[in-house]
Amino acid sequence: MVKWEREKEVWEEEKRVAFVPENWKKIYLQWMENLRDWCISRQIWWGHRIPVWYCKDCGHVNLFTDDDFDRVYDKLIFNLIADGKVKEEFTPEEVEEVLKSPSFVHPEMTVLEFYKRFVFHKYHSTDVSAHSLRLFFTQDLNPTALLANRSVRYKYNSQTKKFRFMLYCKNCGSDKLEWEKDVLDTWFSSALWPFGVFGFSENTEDLKLYPTDLLVTGFDIIFFWVARMIMMGMFFMKDIPFRDVYIHALVRDEKGQKMSKTKGNVIDPLDIIEKYGADALRFTLAILTQQGRDIKLSEKRFEGYKHFANKLWNAGRFILMNLDEDLLTRLPYSAPPRVEDLWILTLLNETAQRVNDALSEYKFSNASQALYDFVWSEFCDWYIEMCKLRLYAKVEENAPPEEKERIERERITAQSFLLMTFDRILKLLHPFMPYITEELYLHLPTAVKDSISLEEFPQYNPQEVYPQAKEKIERLKEIITSIRALRSDLRIEPARKIKLYYRAEDSKELVEEFKEYILFLAKVEELVEVQERPPATIAGFSKDFEFYIPVEFGAKVEELIQSYKRKLQEVERTLTSLSARLKSPNFLEKAPPEEVEKTKQSVEELTQEQERLRKLIKLLEEVMVEL
Ligand SMILES: [Zn+2]
Repeated sequence: MVKWEREKEVWEEEKRVAFVPENWKKIYLQWMENLRDWCISRQIWWGHRIPVWYCKDCGHVNLFTDDDFDRVYDKLIFNLIADGKVKEEFTPEEVEEVLKSPSFVHPEMTVLEFYKRFVFHKYHSTDVSAHSLRLFFTQDLNPTALLANRSVRYKYNSQTKKFRFMLYCKNCGSDKLEWEKDVLDTWFSSALWPFGVFGFSENTEDLKLYPTDLLVTGFDIIFFWVARMIMMGMFFMKDIPFRDVYIHALVRDEKGQKMSKTKGNVIDPLDIIEKYGADALRFTLAILTQQGRDIKLSEKRFEGYKHFANKLWNAGRFILMNLDEDLLTRLPYSAPPRVEDLWILTLLNETAQRVNDALSEYKFSNASQALYDFVWSEFCDWYIEMCKLRLYAKVEENAPPEEKERIERERITAQSFLLMTFDRILKLLHPFMPYITEELYLHLPTAVKDSISLEEFPQYNPQEVYPQAKEKIERLKEIITSIRALRSDLRIEPARKIKLYYRAEDSKELVEEFKEYILFLAKVEELVEVQERPPATIAGFSKDFEFYIPVEFGAKVEELIQSYKRKLQEVERTLTSLSARLKSPNFLEKAPPEEVEKTKQSVEELTQEQERLRKLIKLLEEVMVEL
């Protein structure tokens, strides 16, 4: 029985441990304030047998630890027996086999290596074979030892041909000792884990790593395990074992039910790895992990993040394919960065900041979402595309040498910014997608370490932030996006090049500066400035930038009008029925609040769509007259 009695100062120290999410702390404190005495013995067949031996002659209760033995082999054998690894009677061969088998806690080392490292630091050279053990055991039995009248430590049983490790009563010297049959409560042993792993009770080098920063665990063992580690830590080490405790989410099925074999709703991670890859599995769980909420998981979720892994892979292949082999030596000949280089560098830094901030608060979902958005929507969709202008720039044969040189220098700049950005993306993504990032990293000319995991994690650098470049490119993106949207409304095939008229005030300078980009990214073959809308064109706009797409380019106007009218009818029908539902008191009272919220949102979106379609039809009808 352990009596829980704490001094006030100890309790104040214990309360320093922080919980994430915070609400678990209250529950932990409630338990801790109502502690009862703890019976630590269990009558079960597994676990650590309590290291107590009762003397049958004098009744003395003997407690043995390896400190009771001087010789390293004695300490070793005693530990093997106390840990239940070797029976009370054993052969040297059995001991050797156990010592050479993998350790349970550290499977990459053998039991002997484990003992050497964590239990017998002073005896590193100890090598143990059945032969050396047999010699050692029998030397107690040779005549000289017997004459010296020393107690025999290893008694040989000639019938079983085994040795027995002898213990003698500390009070009367009798060898009639009986070992306690009960084992320690599992949580009593587990509570020692935070310092046990570092080799306690020896004063090891590793023990300096105590206390650690963080424990990650499930809510159901806060009292059984977390609380006991904290108490034992204060008792033995005089310090709390970890600063933070992160209580992770529970993974449930898509309907929020607990997964169970009988319900048949279990998702087996090994199947998912087989189908979607280990990185997609890990990234999906990270992005779905919101503090204080269970994860509702369905197999569909993995699909999207498998695409993300593919996107990253393809981006990597594209970049590597376009790098000059001697790029790093040619960097001194690069041109100054372009606006889009400074823009991507700014976003990269902002992303690094978001990821670091989120991780420091254990907000894994925010961190992975920030990376997903940056990599997919900015780096792949925009930056790589913009770089193609420089990577694929054609040099006219009769161009002057300065021009040829400029194009060459710009190409080196584009390559180096692609490489640098991608290198940092991989480092930022590594904790979330370890395999693919490692593989890609090792192919980069900038990989200076044997593994990406040895690299520094990228941090925010205020010197790499360019607000003006960011503003310019974001505006350019708006303009290109609105041209693309109107093209798609007019059902112009994506690859088809169009003529584009425009009129601009504030954006005029920007459009001139980035003319090349608009031509390339919006598939425009000619960009013509006008004062008003030319006939037979459809107008679109983005802020003060107005543009006009000629309808002879691919849009079959009458067909379009009919199709948008049908779409408008459909939208209006749905809108009527949803609006009616929102007016019904029955629905408002009985439906779950999320459902009401969702309906309101749909109505809002459909109203916007209705307006857009009406405008589009009106524009098309006007053009019909002009044609
Ligand atoms: Zn005794």
